[in-house]
Amino acid sequence: MKNLTLENITKACKGTYHGDTSKLSQEVAGVVIDSRKVEKDYLFVAIDGENVNAHKFIPDTIEKGAMCVVSHEDLGETDYPYILVESTGQALLDIAKLYRDSFDVKVVGITGSVGKTSTKEMIASVLSQKYNVHKTLGNFNNEWGLPITIFEMNEENQVAILEMGVNHFGEMRRLSSVASPDVCVITNIGVAHLEFFKTREGIFQEKSQMIQDMKNGGTIIFNGDDDILRESGPIKGVEPVFFGTGDNSDFRATDIKPLGLKGTSCTLHMPNGTSFDCVVPLPGIHMVSNALAGAAVGYSLDLTNEEIKAGIENLPSIPGRNHIIITDKLTILDDCYNANPISTKASIDVLDMAIGRKVAVLGNMGELGANEKELHYETGAYAAEKGVDVVCAIGDLAKEIANGASVDGTEVHWFKTKADFLAEMKNIMKEGDNVLVKASHGMHFPELVEALEAL
Ligand code: ATP
Ligand code: MG
Repeated sequence: MKNLTLENITKACKGTYHGDTSKLSQEVAGVVIDSRKVEKDYLFVAIDGENVNAHKFIPDTIEKGAMCVVSHEDLGETDYPYILVESTGQALLDIAKLYRDSFDVKVVGITGSVGKTSTKEMIASVLSQKYNVHKTLGNFNNEWGLPITIFEMNEENQVAILEMGVNHFGEMRRLSSVASPDVCVITNIGVAHLEFFKTREGIFQEKSQMIQDMKNGGTIIFNGDDDILRESGPIKGVEPVFFGTGDNSDFRATDIKPLGLKGTSCTLHMPNGTSFDCVVPLPGIHMVSNALAGAAVGYSLDLTNEEIKAGIENLPSIPGRNHIIITDKLTILDDCYNANPISTKASIDVLDMAIGRKVAVLGNMGELGANEKELHYETGAYAAEKGVDVVCAIGDLAKEIANGASVDGTEVHWFKTKADFLAEMKNIMKEGDNVLVKASHGMHFPELVEALEAL
C-alpha cells in the first residue's frame, strides 16, 4: 500500500519497532483488524473488542503470512516483526491518516443525526457522474470503520466520501483529523444520543468540530431547514452554504410533487440563478433534502447541472433494501433483505406514501424472543391502522400478523407457505397495486419479488 512501509507506519503511530530491521522499507499489502481477513504481507492491528482480546489471534495471523503486527501488549522476544504502541485503537487512526495523506483526493465528510448513509449514497451518485469516487463501505462510520474505509482507497480515486458518526464528546476530532475533509456536510441536528450530549446545541457543538479539520479553502454545507444549523455563522472564518426547501437556502427545491413510491418531482435551484427539474427516485421529502445535499456538493466540486440531475435521478438502489421496481402491472417495494418489527413499520410508512391500493406481503420475523407473537400481532395491527388495503401474511408466526390486521376495512389473507401464496397471488393483486414485500432473511422472499415482477 502506497507509503505504508513498516518504517513510516512505526513513525506515524509513535511506536517502537521490534524485529528484523531490513524489513523496515517494505510496504504492507493491506491493513486489517479482523484476523480472518489477513493475507500475505498484511499488517494486523490487534484491537481489543468488548469481549475479545484480539492479541490472542496474533500467532494465527503470522501463520497466514502477516508481515507485521501492531500490538499494545509487549510481546517479548518474537520471531516476527511487531510494532509496540500505547493504544492500538489510536494507532489504527494514525496509520489511516498516513494513508489518507498519501493521496491527492478531495474528501467529503458527512455527519449529522439522521440520514448520513442515505446522503452519502446520494452524494456518491452525483459525484460519480464526473469523478472516480470512493465512499464509506455500508455504515462503517466510527473509529474502526473510518480507517477500514480509508484503507480501501486507491490511486484512481479522485474523491472520497466519508461518513462520520459520533455519540460522545471528543470523538469527532479523532475521526475528522484523519479524514481532513475538503467539504463538510451536516445533514441535521436531531435528538439522538442526548444522554451524552444533553442538548441539541451540544450535539451541534460536537458534530461541527469536523470543520476544525477542514482543509483551507474548503466548503461547509448545512441543511438550512434545520433551525440550529440555520443559525450558524461562519466557522473558522468560512460561511456555511445552506440547502433546503425554505426560501432562504442557497440550494433550494420548489414545485415539490410526490409521485407515490416512484419518488418526488421537484425543481432544484442553484446559487448562480440556474435551475432544473428532476425526479428524486425514492419517496419522502427527506430524500429531496438529501438530493439537495448532493446538488450542493456537486456544485462545489464543479459538476454541471446536467451531471447533478443525472446523479440524482440514477441513484442506485440495492435489491432487497427499499428497492422500487415498476412493472406493467405493479409497483413493488422490495425490502425483503431482512425484517424486524421496527423496520417493518418503517416500510409500512413508505408504503403509505403510495398512490393507489396498498398491499403488504409480510412473512415471519425471526429472533424476536419470548414476545414474538405479540410483536407480529402489533405489526399487523400497525399495517391496518396505517390503511394498508390488503395484508398477505406468510408463515406460522405471521399468522399473528394476519390476526393483528383483521379489522374492518382490511382484506387479510394468511398462507402457511410461500407456495400457497404463489398459487393464489394472481387472484389478489390488481393492476396498479403497490406491493411491499418484507420478511426475515431466512424466509427467502426474493423468490416472491421475482414472481410478482413476472405477474
Ligand atoms: P446511522 O447513525 O445508523 O449511521 P444514518 O445517519 O446513516 O444512521 P440513514 O441510515 O441514512 O441514517 O437513515 C436512517 C433512516 O432515516 C432511514 O429510514 C432513512 O430513510 C431516514 N432518512 C434518510 N435521510 C433522512 C433525512 N435527511 N432526514 C431524516 N430521515 C432520513
Ligand atoms: Mg449511517
